[in-house]
Amino acid sequence: MRYHRIPDETVRRLPIYLRGLLFSSEQGQQNISSRNLADFVGVNSWQIRKDFSYFGDFGTRGVGYNVEKLAKEIKKILKLDIVQKVALVGVGNLGSALLAYPGFVIYGFDITVAFDINPKKVGRKIKNVAIEDVSNLRTLKKRKIKLAIMAVPREAAQDTAGALVKAGVKGILNFSPCYIIVPKKVKVITIDIAMDLARLPYYMPAS
Ligand code: ATP
Repeated sequence: MRYHRIPDETVRRLPIYLRGLLFSSEQGQQNISSRNLADFVGVNSWQIRKDFSYFGDFGTRGVGYNVEKLAKEIKKILKLDIVQKVALVGVGNLGSALLAYPGFVIYGFDITVAFDINPKKVGRKIKNVAIEDVSNLRTLKKRKIKLAIMAVPREAAQDTAGALVKAGVKGILNFSPCYIIVPKKVKVITIDIAMDLARLPYYMPAS
């Protein structure tokens, strides 16, 4: 099936739906209505129907969506239908925690290699992933790794991103608290946990 260009906002929600569908499938559910999926993932049912309309109509009136078929379709759109190898750069406290995090597996991500600049860390293994010297980043192209997670300090982030782009990486999940400039063909998503926390007090009732 050919897909129309899917808006970024919809792409942002697709993993949310996928996670809900995978959990429903684990619970043995074969079909799910858009209303039940909406309650489960916390998105309006009209929004779900609109999002799904970009890639065809999967629902059957009165029955809902076939959980497995829809999960498969979303995986295909997100290119998660194959195992995606991922590199990690920066194995400090955050990087080590990311290496140990089991949640990447359900989407088919496999962190196969890690890099660090600190010679004391190079050669060690965390969760069976060997830490290599950062000069080896250039081998990523040969290893066909196009995704990377960056957990380096802010001062090192731009140069590291540059080295990753040079090594053929096309997608970077950046945990450094800064804006990174990359060529247009490369996608960067920045996650700044502290910044998200910084929004919360605004919503707290005055005591
Ligand atoms: P630790 O104290 O264990 O080094 P940290 O999380 O407090 O960890 P940070 O200063 O945030 O340390 O650095 C995170 C990791 O990034 C460290 O392991 C550091 O050695 C590594 N690092 C720093 N600069 C680079 C770089 N240019 N390329 C790759 N790794 C780097």
